[in-house]
Amino acid sequence: MAIQAYSCNNVAFKLLLSENDPIYANISDLSRGARYVPVEVSEARQKGERVVFIQKCLNPCCWYWQFEDGRRFYHWDKFAYMEIAKFNGVDVEAVRSSKKNKNAGPCPVCYNKNTNGGWNE
Ligand SMILES: [Zn+2]
Repeated sequence: MAIQAYSCNNVAFKLLLSENDPIYANISDLSRGARYVPVEVSEARQKGERVVFIQKCLNPCCWYWQFEDGRRFYHWDKFAYMEIAKFNGVDVEAVRSSKKNKNAGPCPVCYNKNTNGGWNE
């Protein structure tokens, strides 16, 4: 059970959310640094599926949501993605202008190849 405290017009109130609550799971991901929660993740959680946010690497392009069936949906962060491209010697301007179609290459820290975001291949 997680307790979120709020204050509005000097009236304090608490919101009780179960850890199994899909809203709690989304808020938890955001509090851990996720820039967004994909619609695919929210919908699965609404249906009762357990989707876990995994952060094994410090790079936000290496974070992913693990679904029960083994699929992964990768988080994406533009700044971190450009840094990966720079490290790999990939033309940063080409990556920027192609709107994610040109791959920045793998993460230099954990060698994750799914740095483009979205479903893993
Ligand atoms: Zn990584």
